[in-house]
Amino acid sequence: MRNLLMIGALLMSTAAQAADWKLVIHGGAGTIERDRITPEQDRNIRAALDRSLAAGSDILAKGGSALDAVEAAVRVLEDDPNFNAGHGAVYTYEGGHELDSSIMDGRTRAAGAVAAVTTVKNPISLARAVMEDGTHVMLGGKGAEEFSHEKGLEQVSNDYFNTPERKRQLDELKARKVGYYDVDLKYGTVGAVALDSAGHVAAATSTGGLTGKRWGRIGDSPIIGSGTYADDRACAVSATGAGEYFIREGVAHEICARMRFKGESAKVAADAVMAEVKSLGGTGGVIVVTPKGEMDYSFNTPGMYRGKASAAGRSVAIFGDE
Ligand code: ASP
Repeated sequence: MRNLLMIGALLMSTAAQAADWKLVIHGGAGTIERDRITPEQDRNIRAALDRSLAAGSDILAKGGSALDAVEAAVRVLEDDPNFNAGHGAVYTYEGGHELDSSIMDGRTRAAGAVAAVTTVKNPISLARAVMEDGTHVMLGGKGAEEFSHEKGLEQVSNDYFNTPERKRQLDELKARKVGYYDVDLKYGTVGAVALDSAGHVAAATSTGGLTGKRWGRIGDSPIIGSGTYADDRACAVSATGAGEYFIREGVAHEICARMRFKGESAKVAADAVMAEVKSLGGTGGVIVVTPKGEMDYSFNTPGMYRGKASAAGRSVAIFGDE
């Protein structure tokens, strides 16, 4: 009888643990305010965020890995024209697209990243292939593309990433001769962080970078420790915002380090690091999950496209006051 009770308790605790997965996503932070978004855009963005959450949740609910979940969630947003990643990426000054992406497994701290790639349909899957190959962490430009061909990933021509709205934003930037951060013509970077039922975390980020970027500019999104970090000892983070500031602050690693060494909660660490970014002059936001099950956002912009999912359900939001 005693043994039966113990087996029952064990089964129940395993079931509770299996249900304890978490997923948080973002689709970029910026001057996202109600009067700047049409009702149709609002609907489309929320629907896309929900599809991304559904793709990641399906994997996690079946006991799949955080790594698979973040890749799947990001792929949905890369394929959606409303976000600055994959199809819908912003334009470079020359009128093309150069995409950056990274992924990290908190279990082993294995990581993969690609910068300035132009023909792989889903850069997040290329970042994962780099990680899984295991030789290098970060590949750039032509070499990354050769690697992508060798791995048999789906290729597209660079104009597959074109969308009329992003072209309009490039034209506006050129006409107004403004700097990258004077106007908000870039939001829509995407990212996901997850905790799986085995207690492991993972993070993924993908972007087209900044509208009108030049000279092979690379932002924080493919930089492990800035735009993306995952460590089972602390948390998983994906960032979005003015990349140069996120690189200088080492945002994603800094949040994890504060949690590890100062014992801060995810919220306290994320808010503190975002305050540092702000003090340097940078705007943007982060999403965080922890092995303990904390799920948090922190952003210093009027809005951030975002969503959360767990066994309890899914929710999405856009504006700061939601
Ligand atoms: N962080 C990205 C970059 O600087 C842009 C963004 O998140 O909006 O490339």
